Amino acid sequence: MSHDVIVVGAGLAGLSAAVDLSLRGHKVLVLEQRPKPGGRTYSFVDETTGDVVDNGQHLLMGCYYETRLYLREIGSDSLATLQPGLQIDFLHPEKGMASLACPPLPAPMHILAGLFQLRTLTFADRLKLLRVGVELQWTSTQKERRLERMTVEEWLVSLGQSDQNRKYLWDIIAIGTLNDKPDSVSALLFFRVLRTAFLGSRENSCLLIPRCGLSELLVDPAVRYIQSRGGAVKTGHGVTSLKTSGDRVVKAVCEEGSHFESRAFISAVPHYALPAILDGKASASAGRFQSSPIITINLWLDREILENEFLALLDSRIQWIFNKSRLFGKSKRTAGQYLALVMSGAEDFVGLDKNILVDIAMEDLGRAIPATNHAKVIHSLVVKEKRATFSPKPGTESLRPSATTNLVNLFLAGDWTNTGFPATIEGAVISGRKAAQLASATLM
Ligand SMILES: Cc1cc2nc3c(=O)[nH]c(=O)nc-3n(C[C@H](O)[C@H](O)[C@H](O)COP(=O)(O)OP(=O)(O)OC[C@H]3O[C@@H](n4cnc5c(N)ncnc54)[C@H](O)[C@@H]3O)c2cc1C
Repeated sequence: MSHDVIVVGAGLAGLSAAVDLSLRGHKVLVLEQRPKPGGRTYSFVDETTGDVVDNGQHLLMGCYYETRLYLREIGSDSLATLQPGLQIDFLHPEKGMASLACPPLPAPMHILAGLFQLRTLTFADRLKLLRVGVELQWTSTQKERRLERMTVEEWLVSLGQSDQNRKYLWDIIAIGTLNDKPDSVSALLFFRVLRTAFLGSRENSCLLIPRCGLSELLVDPAVRYIQSRGGAVKTGHGVTSLKTSGDRVVKAVCEEGSHFESRAFISAVPHYALPAILDGKASASAGRFQSSPIITINLWLDREILENEFLALLDSRIQWIFNKSRLFGKSKRTAGQYLALVMSGAEDFVGLDKNILVDIAMEDLGRAIPATNHAKVIHSLVVKEKRATFSPKPGTESLRPSATTNLVNLFLAGDWTNTGFPATIEGAVISGRKAAQLASATLM
C-alpha cells in the first residue's frame, strides 16, 4: 500500500483535500474519472481564437478565506485580484448604468453608503434596504432555522422589499450565489451569504477576480503541489465502487479493472455520483438533491462594445457580462472583443439550441448596449453545465451530510456536503480541508 489516503474526485473538494493532506506529510492518490482534473472548474484553449475559455465564469469573494489560503498554498494567489472595495456596475436598458460602489468606511457602513447611492432604485426603495440590514444584524442562529423553509422571495417580501428592490438588487445576488430562481430556493443560505459578505470585514464583500483560466488558477498548480509531495493524480480512473469490510473501506475499484488500497478514503464526488460507488447509509441522502444549470455564452465580436471588466445586466435573460479581453488581456488571434455572458438558474434555457442562445445574447446585449447592433459575431462557443450546482430548495439543507460517515475511515467532501455555504468554490474547499483533517487524524 503506497498511499496513505485515496481521494475520489479531482474537483476543488478533492484537490483541496489532497493539498491539505500533502502539507501534513501524507502521500495521497487522487482518482479522477475524466481525462482532466478540475471537475466543475476548468479551462481549455479555444481552437478558433487561441483564447483560454472557462467552463463557466467564476467569481470569488474576499470572504472565501479557505480558498484564499488554498491559493496561497499552491502558489497561485497572485493570479486573482481582490477589489479594493466592493464595486458592481448594473446596466439597465432604459435606466442606464448604476454602480454599487462602497466607500472606504468600516463595515457595515461601507455597504450602507454603497446601497444608498444605487440609482436604479428610488430613494424610498433604498430606505427599505435598511430593513434587511437590521434582520441580518439581529437574527439569532435559532431564528435562522425558520428561514430554511421560506423561499428567498417570501423572506424578502416579509421584510417589505419592493418589486424593484428584488428585481434590481436582491434577485441578481440570489441567482448569482444560489443559482436558481428566488421563488424556489431557501432563504437560509441567502441570509448566510449576505451576512458573511456584508456584516463581516470590508474585505469580505469585495470580489476576487480571476486574471487567468480556472485551470491555471485553481487546478494545475494544485496537481503540481500534490506531485511534488510524493502524491499522484490519476485521471481516466473512474471509481466504480468503494469496497467495504466491516466498518471500513478497504479499496477503491476502478472501471478499467485496477484497484487501490489505502488506510483512509475521501469521497469528493458530486451528490449524483456517490450512490453509484457506495451502497448504504453514507450515500442515503445524496440521491435527493436537485441540480440547476448554468449556461455561458462566449462571444467574439468584431469590435469593442464594452469598457467595464464586468457588469450585471438588469431586465435581461443574461445576468452578467464578463469582458474577457480586459480580464485576461488582449485576444491572441482576433481583434475586437471577447465577452462571456452568464445565464444562471438557466432551467428554462438549457434545452435551447446553441444558435438560439447566441441570438438571445445578442438581442439582450443590443438592448442594453446599442453599439452591439453594429457588431458582428466572429465566433461563438456555448457551454451548458447542466448540473452546475445543487439547487438549495427549502428542505435541502437538512439533507446535506457531514464529513464523517458510518464507515470509520471514509470521509465525505464536495460542495453539496454540510459546509454552511451554497454550492461554491469556498464550500468545496472548506469540505475538502475538513475531510483531510479527519482522514489525517485516523492515520495517527
Ligand atoms: C458554470 C459554473 C459557474 C459557477 N460559478 C461559480 C462562481 O462564480 N463562484 C463560486 O464560488 N462557485 C461557482 N460555481 C460552483 C463551483 O464550481 C462548484 O461549487 C465547485 O467547483 C464544486 O467542486 P467539487 O469538488 O465539490 O465538485 P466537482 O467539481 O464536481 O468535482 C467532482 C469530481 O469528481 C469526479 N468524479 C465523479 N464521479 C467519479 C468517480 N466515480 N470516480 C472518480 N471521479 C469521479 C468528477 O469528474 C469531478 O471531477 C460554478 C459552477 C459552474 C458549473
